[in-house]
Amino acid sequence: MTTLLKLEKISKRFGGITALKDVSLNIEAGEIHGLIGPNGAGKTTLFNIITGLYSPTHGNLDFKCCSLLGMKPHQVLKLGIARTFQNIRLFANMTALENVMVGRHARTQAGVIGAVLRNPRTRAEEAAIQHRARELLELVGIGSHRHTLAKHLSYGDQRRLEIARALATDPELLALDEPAAGMNPTERETLKQLIMSLRDQLGLSLLVIEHDVKFIMGMCNHISVLNFGEKIAEGSPQEVRHNPAVIDAYLGAEVT
Ligand code: ATP
Repeated sequence: MTTLLKLEKISKRFGGITALKDVSLNIEAGEIHGLIGPNGAGKTTLFNIITGLYSPTHGNLDFKCCSLLGMKPHQVLKLGIARTFQNIRLFANMTALENVMVGRHARTQAGVIGAVLRNPRTRAEEAAIQHRARELLELVGIGSHRHTLAKHLSYGDQRRLEIARALATDPELLALDEPAAGMNPTERETLKQLIMSLRDQLGLSLLVIEHDVKFIMGMCNHISVLNFGEKIAEGSPQEVRHNPAVIDAYLGAEVT
């Protein structure tokens, strides 16, 4: 296995609060890695550190042998890590297609002058961006809604749109923060199939925060468990499901 992302003893303090303490974990190429734990365990803080929104107070993180320390979010994105947010962040008054095209622009060459002059190179690039954006909307299952304003999409479709927009940046690692929140069971099952197909057909690696234990156990290769900022367990879904510390802190007896 090839390690894509390596976190070494990551700590993060906010004033007197220790949100993360000495968290080490590896994300291997081609795996779906689940991150679970109670509210306030530090999951989103870890996402924010991986994607460059926060700097760790201590510790190191390497992505493909390149340290992410000190990198800004747009630099991390260019290196190949994209994310979605717990609270959906779409451009509400833009269409689904336009939202994905905005994501794709993070990867393109034509500068501001080209965009103003609309020279042939810019026009060709724009057409390619639109083509790819349509493909991605099809991939996530909302191709027929491409001209719908983001604010008029159902909640589940907005979450799918966020995934399409993140995919438009051509990531190697996609980090999804509670992608199934607010979805009904049918939508969750479709989303699970989509996430697994991103791994199996596109070869993507994924890091997924999710509170729905069935959802996460059903698709992850590996799961890490945080509690009060510390990693208390990791392993296969089976191993984690039967770990007494995880049952005690998070799962409870009923799902074991
Ligand atoms: P949830 O499942 O509720 O989303 P979480 O596991 O994602 O929780 P975090 O949001 O990472 O947990 O929060 C971890 C701890 O760090 C909490 O005590 C939270 O209040 C604190 N925290 C997170 N961000 C900040 C911040 N910007 N400033 C101060 N404290 C913060």
